Amino acid sequence: MTRRLLILGGTAEARGLAERVVGVPGLRVVSSLAGRVTDPRLPVGEVREGGFGGPDGLADWLREHAIDAVVDATHPFAARMTASAVTAASRTGVPLLVLRRPGWRQGPGDDWHWAPTLEAAAGLLPGLLAGRGERVFLTTGRRSLAVFADLDDLWFLARSVDPPGPPMPRRTLVVLSRGPYTVPGELALMREHRVDVLVTKDSGGEMTTAKLAAARELGLPVVVVRRPAPPDGVLQVDTVEAAAAWVGSHAG
Ligand code: NAP
Repeated sequence: MTRRLLILGGTAEARGLAERVVGVPGLRVVSSLAGRVTDPRLPVGEVREGGFGGPDGLADWLREHAIDAVVDATHPFAARMTASAVTAASRTGVPLLVLRRPGWRQGPGDDWHWAPTLEAAAGLLPGLLAGRGERVFLTTGRRSLAVFADLDDLWFLARSVDPPGPPMPRRTLVVLSRGPYTVPGELALMREHRVDVLVTKDSGGEMTTAKLAAARELGLPVVVVRRPAPPDGVLQVDTVEAAAAWVGSHAG
């Protein structure tokens, strides 16, 4: 009998898991992407794109496609999708695993300032930059620019995969690119634009960690936005290997 697995994706870990489990005999795997990025990195195997229509829509989708197990391998900041998965899984009785890569850890020489939200990160900037400069390297994603839009006294280098739309800060230079990044590349970019502070989400993972090493080397402060709280009462692992083992026991 064929068992069916849904991977909620959009991350390197989701692609890594697909790599591990697509082709396992007796297992049919569908990876789901939100459909937000114009040219997404695609996982191997079958892919569907676009929202499900909230928890109700996802629950219907799980039933219609006779899904046996779900791995939520979305980005640590994709809290709505995770909440939707938790609700839909409990409503349908489909086993759910959350795969989240670990957050970044502050090390010697780091000058990190934790913020509970993007709004709080924006609120920290004027005080942090007072007497130090005005130039912010913003790496929190194109949909976060609105939160910083009122900071007229500051200058922003905003990096994103796709172009951001308004509103955004009055003085913003947009640079479009996608990781993985290197420490020499990040150092060159930060030096070229005379960056005074870096703002990042605590995304974790290897692809975008070079900016933190570059900030350390340049002695720059970093504003780090904390992750949303993980869902209560749901099994969570932080490696692709552990997720693949769970798939083996729940849908293999
Ligand atoms: P979100 O705010 O939690 O999700 C908003 C809505 O987008 C969800 O309610 C769902 O719509 C839809 N959606 C999200 N992920 C989906 C998926 N994998 N498959 C199908 N529908 C999905 O999520 P987000 O922060 O906008 O992130 C969107 C996607 O980008 C995710 O797949 C995430 O892994 C990836 N990503 C996010 C970030 C980030 O910083 N947030 C960074 C890198 C990659 P319905 O309610 O209609 O089902």
